[in-house]
Amino acid sequence: MRKEVICKNCKKSIKINSRANDRGELSLEKGKFFEVKCRSCGKVYEYSVNEVSATTNSLFGALMFVFVLLVMAIVGYYLFSNYWGKSFYMVFIIPTAIAIPGMIYFTYLDFMNKGIRRFNRFRR
Ligand SMILES: [Zn+2]
Repeated sequence: MRKEVICKNCKKSIKINSRANDRGELSLEKGKFFEVKCRSCGKVYEYSVNEVSATTNSLFGALMFVFVLLVMAIVGYYLFSNYWGKSFYMVFIIPTAIAIPGMIYFTYLDFMNKGIRRFNRFRR
């Protein structure tokens, strides 16, 4: 989960380095108000924890997606070339085995999105 504030001068997003999962944790870590220096324009302003919003790290998400597709392709290719037609049950087993990495990925995505929604909902 990526946390950011919008610069009060140039309106660009500034990344906040924190492992906090919600605004409560963030205010314990940084205080209710804290100063952030913008990397684009160099101006320092005071921000409140309520101005911090959580988003997904889109590059990481895209890389994960490609990785999961790759795993599914490799697993699928391996199973099809070695086991297809060996048993009737492979008609069910192989698609299930291929779907597992995808299911894990979507569970993870759902978990991340819940965390982001939770972060953005609670205000201090
Ligand atoms: Zn700025």
